[in-house]
Amino acid sequence: MRIVLILTFLLAMIYIPGCDKLGIEVKIPNPGAGGQAAAAKADPNTVTEQATKQRQQTMEDKVIKSDAEWRRELEPLSYQVLRKSATERAFTGQYWNHHEVGRYLCAGCGAVLFESATKFDSGCGWPSFYQAAENKRILERVDRSHGMVRTEVVCARCGGHLGHVFNNGPKPTGLRYCINSASLKFEPVAN
Ligand code: FE
Repeated sequence: MRIVLILTFLLAMIYIPGCDKLGIEVKIPNPGAGGQAAAAKADPNTVTEQATKQRQQTMEDKVIKSDAEWRRELEPLSYQVLRKSATERAFTGQYWNHHEVGRYLCAGCGAVLFESATKFDSGCGWPSFYQAAENKRILERVDRSHGMVRTEVVCARCGGHLGHVFNNGPKPTGLRYCINSASLKFEPVAN
C-alpha cells in the first residue's frame, strides 16, 4: 500500500512538471508572439524590398517624363499628338497607306501597340487597326471634346494620346482603332 502511495506521489510529481511544461507550452505562443514580432521585425525589410522591387518595376514599366522632356525628345507633331491630344490631318500621316509587315510601336515610349496583321484600310485617312497588340498596352478614356462622346485610346506605358476606338470596325472584333501616324513608329519584322 505504501509502495502504491509512493508510486502515486512520484507519478504526480512527474505529471505536475508536465503540466507546468504544458503551461509553458501554452505560454510559448507568447514568446511565439515575440517570435512573430521578431518575424514581423524581419518582415518590414522583406516588405520594403518587395515594395522597392514593385516600385522599380512600376517605374520600369511606366515612362514618366516632364512636359519639357517630351517636348525636347519628340518630333513636333508627335509631341502635339501624344502629349497634347492633337489630331494629324487625314491622309497626311506616314502610315495611313502603309502596308509593310511588322509592328507599330508607341512613338513616345516604344511599347508595341499594334501588329500589321490587324491593320486594315478604313478609308478614313488614318492608320486603322481592328485589334491592339495587347489590350493592357492601351487604355481607354471617355473623350467629350469637340461636342462628341468618343473613346480615346492612350498608351498605357507613357500615357500618350494615340487616337480613338470606334465600334464600326471589321470582324473579328468589330473595332476600329483610328490612330495618328505621328503617335506610332513602325518596326519591320525581319524575314
Ligand atoms: Fe507610349
